[in-house]
Amino acid sequence: MNFLETKNLSKTYPNGVEAVKSLNLKIDKGEIYGLIGPNGAGKSTTIRILMGILEPTSGSVHFDGRSGIDLAKTGYLPEGANFYRFMTIREYLEWSCSLYDLPDCENNIEESLITVGLENLRERKLDEISKGQKQRVGIAQALVHDPDLLILDEPTSGLDPMGKKKILSIIKELAGQGKTILTSSHILPELSQICTGVGIIKGGELVLQGSMADLRKEFVTSNVELGFEGPADGLVTKIEGLDFVSEVEEMDEEGYRYIVRVKDEKRAKRELPELVLKDEAVVTYYDFARVTLEDIFMETMEEGAK
Ligand code: ADP
Ligand code: MG
Repeated sequence: MNFLETKNLSKTYPNGVEAVKSLNLKIDKGEIYGLIGPNGAGKSTTIRILMGILEPTSGSVHFDGRSGIDLAKTGYLPEGANFYRFMTIREYLEWSCSLYDLPDCENNIEESLITVGLENLRERKLDEISKGQKQRVGIAQALVHDPDLLILDEPTSGLDPMGKKKILSIIKELAGQGKTILTSSHILPELSQICTGVGIIKGGELVLQGSMADLRKEFVTSNVELGFEGPADGLVTKIEGLDFVSEVEEMDEEGYRYIVRVKDEKRAKRELPELVLKDEAVVTYYDFARVTLEDIFMETMEEGAK
């Protein structure tokens, strides 16, 4: 059993919107899991169900072998969190900490502040800090009771590159401390550098889930782009017949240009050039184009937009 999982989790809002459809999330202990999907995909709905803010229409949540999340062991950063602006960072964290039954809030607050790098701004009012700093206060708030699981809804959304980088490094550090992190984003590249697991959600459905390493192994490959001076049908047929080639696709609107999708990158690099050069067709273009996981994500998302 996974540390955190959902079984056939579904949510239909009273207005009839099916926001989440039979979701089976699987998240291991110590993982940084990225729940990725475009706006409206159902990420926040899923997260709110996990946090017990929303009731699912059907399905269940399991955490550490039990039914439902243990809020005492879970920290939560809501999407676009807005804080009590008149409070200082310290006051806000004291208030957050008072919601839990803890023996030593001072110490917890201190550690949270250090983790997010705001120890020198503790007396600043919340409406006198930047958006990036606010997000870090939000993470400090989620950390204040030293939870095992952190759920961060779009923690990097709307931040500048430096602000994003800072948040990512905090998440990485927290995972290094042994915490399990579920974080969401509407852009994969934003999280792909730090995630160990990923779930891609679209229209409320999980379209892809797995460890980042497995997904890269499965999807990331080099394709060969070929161009010829004139028709090269004979050679194309030959290439199509190669056992390390999955398909040859004619490129739209470009004369005699093809994409060769390969199954075995090494063999393609070794064997394809020779075959092409030996043929009578005159080659005008030959290039390896790397397909990244980000490309796959973009393709998945574009299919959804059509
Ligand atoms: P995401 O966080 O991925 O952007 P949401 O979970 O916020 O997606 O929304 C998923 C879908 O549910 C959207 O179509 C959204 O309009 C709808 N939705 C979200 N909240 C509500 C609500 N309270 N009532 C009705 N529909 C909602
Ligand atoms: Mg959302």
